[in-house]
Amino acid sequence: MVYFDNNATTPLGQNALQVYRLALEHDWSNPSSPYRSASRVRAKLEQAREELASILGFHKDQLIFTSGATEANNSVFAHVASNEKKEGQCLLSPFEHPSIIEPAKYWFKDRLTYMPTDDSGRVDLDRTEQLLNTENISLVSLMAANNETGVIQPWQELAKLCLNQGIFFHCDATQWIGKLDSSAFSLCTSFSASAHKFSGPKGLGWLACKEPIQLQLGGQQERESRGGTENYPAIASMLVALKDAIKDLDGLIQGAEWRDQFEQSIINAIPETIVLGKESPRLWNTSMILLPKFNNLSWVGKLDKRGISVSTGSACSAGNVKNTSLVFSMGLSSNEAGRLVRVSSYSDQNESDWQNLALAFTDVFKELKDEASHSSVISL
Ligand code: PMP
Repeated sequence: MVYFDNNATTPLGQNALQVYRLALEHDWSNPSSPYRSASRVRAKLEQAREELASILGFHKDQLIFTSGATEANNSVFAHVASNEKKEGQCLLSPFEHPSIIEPAKYWFKDRLTYMPTDDSGRVDLDRTEQLLNTENISLVSLMAANNETGVIQPWQELAKLCLNQGIFFHCDATQWIGKLDSSAFSLCTSFSASAHKFSGPKGLGWLACKEPIQLQLGGQQERESRGGTENYPAIASMLVALKDAIKDLDGLIQGAEWRDQFEQSIINAIPETIVLGKESPRLWNTSMILLPKFNNLSWVGKLDKRGISVSTGSACSAGNVKNTSLVFSMGLSSNEAGRLVRVSSYSDQNESDWQNLALAFTDVFKELKDEASHSSVISL
């Protein structure tokens, strides 16, 4: 299988798998238990927290392991809405992940304001700053990089503005961590990530938060902020996955060249193809293509038959791509939304995989055109 859907999830890295296995075999004791094997796991858990915190530029006591970014994101909205002194607005970009948009709607109801954006899928910083200066705002939430287009958002600039004004700033860094340098997140009041986006295990992530925050009641774990037995084997595995990813970030980032060549090949072979967000800074691994013809499920099905996995959009909204927040904010018609295909690489894909991907798109285009000229039914 040639896998080009890494923004949905990545396979577990080899070292992460080995560390996971070993920890499952040897370090399975409950870290809260009162005997030596447990205190050994407790010590390893705290050491892992310390190492991760130092990579992320946060204090270890500000780092809470969670079941992933969804939980971490949810908890921030509950926290701010329950603790705010004045009933302020929640300011967020219109193309946030549903794990931001839905809790924002739930907790802030009619106190939601969407940030102005430009045509290339990026938040308009100047106009957003005006909102910060004129509105009563309790919480600002902006993702670091978009999961669908890969467009990098001006989160660092906005974090600084919020910091100066004492406004809580949350960043969903799920698509950033493991792909770009992670040393600037100390600008944020809080940020979230998920291990399975950088070849770590699924069901694990973190919330880094400068304020004391309550995620789950019912246990003293995570300094009483999140009750529940810690998953040390997964935590150990996640740390190794992240360390592996950041070892050669520059090498990974150079993959942007292969992605750009792929896009050029597609544009040459399939006229009128548009790459969303191409004018903006983007993650090096992502390409969201608006194809001129044929439903995206036909493209995905034909590519799948050739052993290639790509996506119609974010996995969380697969099958429902017309309603994603990205589609809404970039002003696409529902017909256009039905022709979007996302490809996303990670550390396993090389130049020839990208070249073969471009050839496969070209072949599929020919096949779909042929079929369409004979019948209105496209065979998968
Ligand atoms: N935020 C973004 C930007 C994402 O891409 C995802 C995963 N699709 C999430 C949050 C949620 O991550 P998880 O499902 O691992 O909790």
